[in-house]
Amino acid sequence: MNKSEIIDGKKLSGEIRLQLKVQAEKFEKEFGRKIGLAVVLVGENAASKIYVANKIKACEEVGLKSFAYYLPETAEKNEILELVDTLNADKNVDGILIQLPLPDKSFEKEVLARVSPDKDVDGFHAVNAGNLLLGNDNLSACTPSGVIELIKSTGCKISGKHAVVLGRSNIVGKPAAMLLLQNDATVTICHSKTEHLSDITSQADILVVAIGKKEFVKKDMVKKGAIVIDVGMNRENGKLYGDVAFDEVSQKASYITPVPGGVGPMTITMLMNNTIKAAMSGKR
Ligand code: NAP
Repeated sequence: MNKSEIIDGKKLSGEIRLQLKVQAEKFEKEFGRKIGLAVVLVGENAASKIYVANKIKACEEVGLKSFAYYLPETAEKNEILELVDTLNADKNVDGILIQLPLPDKSFEKEVLARVSPDKDVDGFHAVNAGNLLLGNDNLSACTPSGVIELIKSTGCKISGKHAVVLGRSNIVGKPAAMLLLQNDATVTICHSKTEHLSDITSQADILVVAIGKKEFVKKDMVKKGAIVIDVGMNRENGKLYGDVAFDEVSQKASYITPVPGGVGPMTITMLMNNTIKAAMSGKR
């Protein structure tokens, strides 16, 4: 029985971070300061705390300066917006990341929209999402950018291939589909209302799965020899599971990302990449 090659996101991420470190050093030499990333965490969400800690660690690794802001669970919307305004105006801050979810989800839209598009290193602002749609240079969402790098690392071409994206969220599914289209794939987007889902996914040369359902994609939903990228992160009893049933799908795919150790590390690396890009853009 064939076994897939595992796409090692940790290794790829390490290689890219080495290149980013060189760029960050060059910036520091030229402009006399480190590139800065501000990370805002509101509340006590345990998973968010881990993500923020990992982002701060990545900044140290790449040679960026991190500014961490911890606001209490009870922070009012205006308090968060004021902090964003301050960070927008701060010349030492090149990128701003608002760790989601906010304790009060109803704040999210307004808070994200307040981040200056030039500092929107998550790529969530409508200006950056719009530029992605138009094919303009932009700060693209980190996870989808990481997905593209992982696919490219296989050496297989994307152009002309049928890519199926399972999930249509604004932060993963839609931007991933746009980036695949930019890379000349023929793209199908599936979601919870899609009929005959297996028929579609099993036609995919490249299958990107981002639905948040533990091991949802089984072997019979995958084309033999497909590249399978598993974005899912589902925590159960302290263990992390992907959206793809790795053991069985890896018998059929040609390449597959593991969870953990696939898309996750690349997301943070693309955040570092976007922060350097924002700093170098000289837009401010
Ligand atoms: P989301 O906002 O909840 O979106 C889920 C998408 O999946 C929706 O478009 C939904 O369709 C679709 N969906 C749900 N159940 C489905 C089903 N049974 N069949 C087909 N489609 C289905 O999630 P997200 O933010 O995109 O995240 C997706 C997963 O990726 C989560 O596990 C998340 O933790 C993970 N993630 C990982 C990273 C990373 O760095 N590794 C980053 C971000 C997210 P509808 O639109 O019709 O509801």
